[in-house]
Amino acid sequence: MRLVTTRFLLDDGLAVDAETDLDTDRWRAPAFSLAGARALAAATQALAERIGHECMQTVHVLGDDDDTDPRDHDFDQDEDAPALKAIVLVITWDHMADGPKAATRIVTPDPTGRYWIGGDWPWEVATWQCACGLRDEWHNTTCDNCGRTRDDQARPAGASA
Ligand SMILES: [Zn+2]
Repeated sequence: MRLVTTRFLLDDGLAVDAETDLDTDRWRAPAFSLAGARALAAATQALAERIGHECMQTVHVLGDDDDTDPRDHDFDQDEDAPALKAIVLVITWDHMADGPKAATRIVTPDPTGRYWIGGDWPWEVATWQCACGLRDEWHNTTCDNCGRTRDDQARPAGASA
């Protein structure tokens, strides 16, 4: 497994950062930390408000705000791993005709505390454009053409390196 952190677009102006596995099927579900799941939850709920709930899934995080970064721990093996105090839910609103239980799925974190969400969603990886004009996917952080980095692009012209 080769996880990279990249940026996914849910919609214009709505982006979330998550990890994805480049070695296997790159369109499997992205992996979110609990903090990332919270960001995804906010983004999906904002999108649902805009386009309507019936045609989408929304993510909800219930519980404690204690966001210890879970990826430092193996929750099955590490006795020092903090107890999980949050529950991540995915609600599929067009299943509500069959009742709330049919529409609700609890996302169980994997042993490292990653939440894999949205395996069947039409994820689109964000891109960035280098000052030289080349466009690349978000997780490729150095321009193949000129060697500038993605994070270097935002610097105002004339600022020293
Ligand atoms: Zn470049």
